Amino acid sequence: MQLPFFQVGIGAGALQGLGARKEGAIAKLYATEAAFEIAHEALQVHGGIGYTKDLPVERYFRDARFIMIGGGTSEIMRYIIQREVYGGCLGK
Ligand SMILES: Cc1cc2nc3c(=O)[nH]c(=O)nc-3n(C[C@H](O)[C@H](O)[C@H](O)COP(=O)(O)OP(=O)(O)OC[C@H]3O[C@@H](n4cnc5c(N)ncnc54)[C@H](O)[C@@H]3O)c2cc1C
Repeated sequence: MQLPFFQVGIGAGALQGLGARKEGAIAKLYATEAAFEIAHEALQVHGGIGYTKDLPVERYFRDARFIMIGGGTSEIMRYIIQREVYGGCLGK
């Protein structure tokens, strides 16, 4: 399996003791929003039955929505990314 670029970036940064706030936030934002998009599509493909508890799809959908909130919301991930990118330019 090929590692996404941010996963490699986090590993390299952490090993060098540089920290990896930006990479971590990018990874969390990307993975959680991708999971939601996939779960959303899966529910749509299953139609009405996908919305019921007869199938696990509704649970995947709810869980995917929650991980965009828990552990730092998507808005906060975007805030961290912009701070890490522009903070240096503005002299923090
Ligand atoms: C079922 C469940 C389990 C949980 N388990 C845990 C756990 O095990 N450990 C733990 O630590 N926490 C846990 N939490 C808490 C979770 O981490 C918080 O709900 C999450 O961090 C969001 O905080 P909040 O709910 O206070 O929302 P708020 O901080 O009130 O935010 C509300 C909305 O405003 C947005 N917002 C807030 N500030 C800004 C800003 N500066 N700029 C732009 N938008 C902003 C947010 O993105 C969000 O959309 C859990 C929550 C739930 C519902």
